[in-house]
Amino acid sequence: MSIQLFVPTFRVEECLKEIKECLDKGWTGLGYKTIKFEEKWKEYTNFPYAHFINSATVGLHLAVKILKNECKWEDGDEIISTPITFVSTNHAIAYENLKVVFADVDKYLCLDPIDVRKKITSKTRAIMFVGVGGNAGKYKEILKICKEFNLKLILDAAHMSGTRLNGEIIGKEADAVIYSFQAVKNLPTADSGMICFKEEKYDKLARKLTWLGINKDTYTRSKNKESYKWKYDVECVGYKYHGNSIMASIALVQLKYLDKDNSYRRQIATWYDEAFKHHKNLIKPISIIDGCESSRHLYIIEVNNRDEVIMALNLIDIYPGVHYRDNTEYEMYKYGKGTCQNAHRLSKRILSLPMHLRLTKEDINKISRNVIKFASSIKED
Ligand SMILES: *Cc1c(COP(=O)(O)O)cnc(C)c1O
Repeated sequence: MSIQLFVPTFRVEECLKEIKECLDKGWTGLGYKTIKFEEKWKEYTNFPYAHFINSATVGLHLAVKILKNECKWEDGDEIISTPITFVSTNHAIAYENLKVVFADVDKYLCLDPIDVRKKITSKTRAIMFVGVGGNAGKYKEILKICKEFNLKLILDAAHMSGTRLNGEIIGKEADAVIYSFQAVKNLPTADSGMICFKEEKYDKLARKLTWLGINKDTYTRSKNKESYKWKYDVECVGYKYHGNSIMASIALVQLKYLDKDNSYRRQIATWYDEAFKHHKNLIKPISIIDGCESSRHLYIIEVNNRDEVIMALNLIDIYPGVHYRDNTEYEMYKYGKGTCQNAHRLSKRILSLPMHLRLTKEDINKISRNVIKFASSIKED
């Protein structure tokens, strides 16, 4: 039996029951379950606003767009971001003709506040923080920097559904927090996401922009018997970014199990930690910062001979991944080459071990035994 990096788990009967309600009612689109899920998400996170969208990528774009327009940023202004992320994070900045300025990562694989300070210029407008694998990293220090330099903070929480910092869901101080419920994230649907703005006016704007700039959604109109149901105004160029009730149905069920699922992920991480603890010369797990209860979307280790380890594991049907390749290795972000030494180095040394709810203690034993076997004490090059 092969061991895959990610295998999402769905409570099939419960999901089907929620979906069936949509089909019976004849309401699969925006509204109905999407609103119900937004309410549940606000309850869960304790955030004041939450808007259900069709992916985190569009949410990141929307966050950058709204902040740019409302704060009067100009083309060419800068957002400091990380090279160790899924490319969506940085594309969201590029979509709006802003410049991605790369800052280095620390031992948590998250933005390093020391390097972030060095990368601030008169054109810096915001910091994009990614909680890699669910890790809070130095979020708190980045927050301080944002206050000190009057910068906006966008939290790419694609891996952070359920991550807590000092007992609270992380992100309430950020201007926008964006979650991904993509097929293999730790709260999987098929494709969807959530954007949580701190301020009401931005949440309102987001709701308008996710449905083509239309000023009333279908659901509200159907509830309002007095006015013309078909009549609406279009106030600006919007997008087709909103989520739908089928995705929200799955998400509603997933959310019920999120804390339980994340705690099993942390159990898996503990098993890996225990297996590697006497092999520190070969394998260095990326640690979680103190005070963070991580969603544990990922379990990442650092080794000397990464490519060799992956190849050897593949031969015995174990399939790890890499999160992530340094984005400055990509053609379009290569201008950042040489600016983030730690990221450049780690990008060649990290791999993500299988992490999902179907893995057993025996699977983890098998994976770790083989990682220890294949990891070399000599640096590959
Ligand atoms: C998956 C991911 C995204 C994009 O999420 P989608 O919902 O697939 O658009 C953004 N940022 C990070 C860090 C991710 O891992």
